[in-house]
Amino acid sequence: MSDLLTLEAAQALVLDRVRALPGEAVPVWDAAGRVTSEPARALVDLPPFPSSAMDGFAVRAADLPGTLPVVGQVAAGSPASRPLDAGEAMTISTGGVVPDGADSVVPIEYVVQYDNSIDVAEAVASGAHVRPRGGDVAAGDIVVGAAVRLGAVQLGALAAAGVADVLCARRPRVAILATGSELARPGEQLGPGQVYESNGLMLAAALAAAGADIEVMPAVADDESAHREALEHGLAADVLVTSGGVSVGPHDLVRQIAAELGVEEVFWRVAIKPGKPVSFGVRDATLVFGLPGNPVSSLVGCELFAKPAVRALQGLRDPLPRLEPGRLASPLRRNAARDEFVRARFHLDHDGAVLEPLTGQESHMIVRAAVADALVHLPRGDGEVQAGDAVSWFRLGEP
Ligand code: AMP
Ligand code: MG
Repeated sequence: MSDLLTLEAAQALVLDRVRALPGEAVPVWDAAGRVTSEPARALVDLPPFPSSAMDGFAVRAADLPGTLPVVGQVAAGSPASRPLDAGEAMTISTGGVVPDGADSVVPIEYVVQYDNSIDVAEAVASGAHVRPRGGDVAAGDIVVGAAVRLGAVQLGALAAAGVADVLCARRPRVAILATGSELARPGEQLGPGQVYESNGLMLAAALAAAGADIEVMPAVADDESAHREALEHGLAADVLVTSGGVSVGPHDLVRQIAAELGVEEVFWRVAIKPGKPVSFGVRDATLVFGLPGNPVSSLVGCELFAKPAVRALQGLRDPLPRLEPGRLASPLRRNAARDEFVRARFHLDHDGAVLEPLTGQESHMIVRAAVADALVHLPRGDGEVQAGDAVSWFRLGEP
């Protein structure tokens, strides 16, 4: 067993083969979840003009306290028709352009209003309730840096700064192929010896959430020519992810046929549980992940290898699962030879994250795994890790 590649070495071999995809202009309306390939810069100052923060009156601070004639009206989108002169006031609403000549806004609550004038009893500070032009960002400055995944706040900032198109990494095209003569589609009646095909859908959902453009291919039987045709098709993608057929059985054909098609195998088998028989290879720019067929092994292999590759292809800087500190709620026995990834639920207490390992940790138990929101990383070694001991873990299903 000691000849197995370590997880860290295997992940490094994967990331070493990733070349970030080129950028393309994406309309901001379509850019949710995309990753910037260059910094996006403001097209305008924001605010684009000195803007009132309150409903009230635009004034010169030097004129207050006092009684001022109201000589005009400013509403959002309707600036004043002339500058404000000394000794004058104009009504103004939130978001209105503070007129030239005015330096402050007095909120309506601090004013006694007459027909054509106002009375202000207190002084105001110069600049009060005026949002200066460019106070949020100046035209030409960076709104969102490079290698950032665009979420709601980033998209709002881009739109506010007038950005209509943003340069993002092309989405990685991922082909997903399930292999196995026993696989039936949900909706069909199970025949003798059949199980429902679940990995294709699961891997598609996981990698789509990470930003990939997915093609789920029809599952193939354990048949050489079917494998040859399907793998060749999948090799046109940026990433080909297969499930099943990478173990040592006579019907495990994926590695053999991939090699015949010119895939250079970078590694096969990693010291992890579940997911040991995972393979990784490359043909030209295509990355090929052979995930084991047991559904939980497929899931773990996806989180540890395929998803980081999809992130790195988009230019994200820390593509590996983000390990966090936590404590175990109940003891776990270590595996002597392999790093184990234990399905768990987490909650927070006053000291941080607490990880509760689930029952049913076998690699075929996808339904048991479906209530997990965390994977605990249990490094290989002897003995038990006790309840309360520190462990590393990461969230399942991160983009
Ligand atoms: P394999 O890795 O091909 O030896 O498959 C290991 C186990 O996973 C077998 O019990 C398969 O029936 C099961 N399996 C393989 N592929 C899938 C799949 N796509 N969906 C659900 N189970 C699968
Ligand atoms: Mg199989």
